[in-house]
Amino acid sequence: MRPSTGSKVLWSELLPHEFRNRMKYNPTVYLPLGLCEPHGQVSAFGLDTIKAEWLCEQAALRVGGIVAPSMGYHIHETGYHARWLEEEIGDNNPHMTGIPPAVMLQLFLYQLRAFVNAGFRTIIVISGHSGGNQVDIRRAADLFMRHIPVHVWVRSDPELVEGLYEGDHAGKYELSQQMYLRPDLVDMRARSYENEPDSGGRLALGLDADEASPELGKLIMEACLDRLCVEADRMKRMYANEEIPPINYGLIQIIWSELLRTADEWVTAQPWPSQEEVSPQSRWKPYERYSPNGTGAEYRF
Ligand SMILES: [Zn+2]
Repeated sequence: MRPSTGSKVLWSELLPHEFRNRMKYNPTVYLPLGLCEPHGQVSAFGLDTIKAEWLCEQAALRVGGIVAPSMGYHIHETGYHARWLEEEIGDNNPHMTGIPPAVMLQLFLYQLRAFVNAGFRTIIVISGHSGGNQVDIRRAADLFMRHIPVHVWVRSDPELVEGLYEGDHAGKYELSQQMYLRPDLVDMRARSYENEPDSGGRLALGLDADEASPELGKLIMEACLDRLCVEADRMKRMYANEEIPPINYGLIQIIWSELLRTADEWVTAQPWPSQEEVSPQSRWKPYERYSPNGTGAEYRF
């Protein structure tokens, strides 16, 4: 029988007996990942978080499960992000909530720990921020699964619609998503600010942004959701009701040390081979090659 919590799927809004009921029906937790970063003058900063939250909430309504508090901070600036920022933002202030890879990945492991200790056996992570960082999140998830018998599935939203739609940054794809989900948070007339001094200019607006529409956004979001629900349904069927003793900090620290040993392979730590070097005078230069073990000496403040 379906749990009787109506449209309430957010962990933060559930009462303990409602939580237990939903958990009994489907021990899946969804973690929406996003951040605040510029999507042109025309869109609110939180686009990535907003679409991840929508997908997780809709999937929980359809398939069951509980949506964990969103993570509105994400990996940015380092590796391939640095040249992207130089090209798209320049030396303007991006007003974003970026954090370093090591901080994100270590916190992520502790988030997984919290989910398992709360009783979840299936963990679905949806990142609205994509471009490579989801690969590092998957690496952390894979390592976690080698130690703990749960299933963790990590996807960015463009990965959910691979072959159907091409993801972008603040272009036709993303602005359509936002126009469908939160039309109140897109204002194409705000492009007029691009020419104002101190506005930041284009602020990473995609070249095909004018082709965005709520109709396309609906098609994209529904396709993302369909794919996500197929997976959530499949995972719901395959979970084994295995007793897992509470995970302590020590085990997470062991997993974290293993992950740290692979830091030079993290996608977010290095530029893409095809990318040009960040200019020496750019404010993003110090982030181009990232090492979690850095002393800080390589960073300019
Ligand atoms: Zn975005």
